[in-house]
Amino acid sequence: MPYFHGKYPLKTWKFASKSQFNYWTVELWGDGAIVCDCPGFTFRKKCRHVVSVLDELTKEFGGFEKALRYYRDQKKKEQKDGLSKVSK
Ligand SMILES: [Zn+2]
Repeated sequence: MPYFHGKYPLKTWKFASKSQFNYWTVELWGDGAIVCDCPGFTFRKKCRHVVSVLDELTKEFGGFEKALRYYRDQKKKEQKDGLSKVSK
């Protein structure tokens, strides 16, 4: 499935696993998908990591849609900078 703006997530968050020496990664994708690689998310499509990220975004930006727009713009800017560096 092609994601908005390529194969990298807009943003990632790391959460330390309590039971293992491991980290779970929550990824926000350009199409608004938000996924975690912990077992809870794999089975239930929902987990406390995703919930806490959504919570954080809502607090910081006043809503998930606003946060998504912000990170999309950031990504666009990043890609434009990257391209101008390559062409020079
Ligand atoms: Zn999780």
